[in-house]
Amino acid sequence: MKFSELPYERINFSKVKQQAEELVQNLSDAKDFLTAERVFLEWDKLSSLISTASSLANVRHTINTEDVFYAEEKDYYDEISPQYQELSQNFIKVMLETPFRKDFETKYGDLYFKNAEIEMRTFTPSMIADLQQENRLVSEYVKLIASAQVEFEGETLTLAQMTPHMQSTNTEKRIAAWNAYGSFFMNHAEQFDSIFDQLVTIRTKLSQTLGHKNFIALGYDRMTRNSYNEKDVEKFREAVQKHLVPVVTRLKQEQAKRNGVAFPMKYPDAEIKFPSGNAKPTGTPDEILAYGQKLYRELSPETAEFIDFMMENELFDVVSRKGKASGGYCTEFSEYKSPFVFANFNGTAGDIEVITHEAGHAFAAYQARNIVPLENRQPTMESAEVHSMSMEFFAWPWCEGFFGNQTQKFYYQHLEGALTFIPYGTMVDHFQHEIYKNPEMTPTERHQLWSELEKKYRPWYQDTETPFYKDGRFWQRQIHIYEMPFYYIDYCLAQTVALQFWATMQENREDAWKRYMKFVSKAGMLTFDGLVKTADMTSPFNDSALKDVADAATKWLNQFDQSTLM
Ligand SMILES: [Zn+2]
Repeated sequence: MKFSELPYERINFSKVKQQAEELVQNLSDAKDFLTAERVFLEWDKLSSLISTASSLANVRHTINTEDVFYAEEKDYYDEISPQYQELSQNFIKVMLETPFRKDFETKYGDLYFKNAEIEMRTFTPSMIADLQQENRLVSEYVKLIASAQVEFEGETLTLAQMTPHMQSTNTEKRIAAWNAYGSFFMNHAEQFDSIFDQLVTIRTKLSQTLGHKNFIALGYDRMTRNSYNEKDVEKFREAVQKHLVPVVTRLKQEQAKRNGVAFPMKYPDAEIKFPSGNAKPTGTPDEILAYGQKLYRELSPETAEFIDFMMENELFDVVSRKGKASGGYCTEFSEYKSPFVFANFNGTAGDIEVITHEAGHAFAAYQARNIVPLENRQPTMESAEVHSMSMEFFAWPWCEGFFGNQTQKFYYQHLEGALTFIPYGTMVDHFQHEIYKNPEMTPTERHQLWSELEKKYRPWYQDTETPFYKDGRFWQRQIHIYEMPFYYIDYCLAQTVALQFWATMQENREDAWKRYMKFVSKAGMLTFDGLVKTADMTSPFNDSALKDVADAATKWLNQFDQSTLM
């Protein structure tokens, strides 16, 4: 069914509540597995109906924020979602006590239970008031960022609209754009400091309610870390410093030389990869979408079926319009087995990422559309990012259609960007560990900590001029740090695996795709560790993983004809 024709009806929460309570009762009364399973599947259906309705309301609200009807519907789901979560917790609790656990595990896998146990550890009813306070603080941050109005060259722009200007090849204009962007944060510095300080305090308090020393254990449980722990992450951190930082430092030295700027670089200088500017896509949004369809039709039979389904049913909304919310995301309407991709094309390489990265998520959702229960459809975040980040690399042979004569620049920029990202993301994660280990730090101490970590993870930066950045405040623009602590390392682990897929493609494309399909087809039925093994890849927690991808990428970059980059 086409997106525009999908029917929407508000979920009646009091009816849902009654039904949910009945199902909880029926499950605990079940005398045999078949009865218990029937209840389990009814619960899954109920969850699917609620998730579809709330997802539809949210999508229709974001594609036209001026539509009053869907704005109200979205508010409605925001309001009932904590109450539904409580019902859901009650159901999970009975599932964990069911005498038929073995039967369920045989039929649906044991991960459902493992994850359910982790989820139960994150909550007790006495936390509700503090959780609401935490949500309010996060919303305050999100609103502050969204409300940003940056005065630039006679226009009033949002932070996202500043991106193309911050990548301008006109040095004066670019520096002005960076200064304007930084000024917004400096004008609200006290607010950003204070929101974060309150978040650290409340998260520490929540953890202590659960008997933890600090927030780290709860943070890990919230991310459903089911196959690695803090020690593993520490090992990964060491490998990043040992194998990756030196390689990226050398690439950055080359960049500074190529562009004729001082090394270590200032932030606005580092943003420009090549003297002629970063690779930009050539087509109109419609042309980019049409070429994306060609890409997926040619990539594999599985992606061909997927892309035709997406196009036929209007499941991409990527063109910027008045009233459309900013940002980009991939979601799904589980009742209609339909993924949905939302984006705002802005003429940068980010537009192509929507077609390759977000469509990678959508492809995985499409492949998993028939899996029951819903919990088994999507893996934990680091694995979900493997779907999308690897797809970005599988799309390489078609990039000429997106970038024309700038394709070589794009390849270089993409691979270099992937390598550069890992030290940054790991630094974000390291920062948060120190913050939550030492919740009594003052805002100034936090900024100092960021600056110190930067010397370790990103020694190619030195900037004593650009406001906001020079003060160790860069992290305040990283939404994840406020919104979902410890999420960031997921991207780094995923990028490490995606780079292994990239390296495999250089040797044997067919083999790389086969292994990717193994990873994707297991959906949410295995842990990250299990999925990596299924695809016969090396775990990022094994010291050799980063060394191997750094070596493979260096070899490729060394052979690259640098004259194509000017
Ligand atoms: Zn993603």
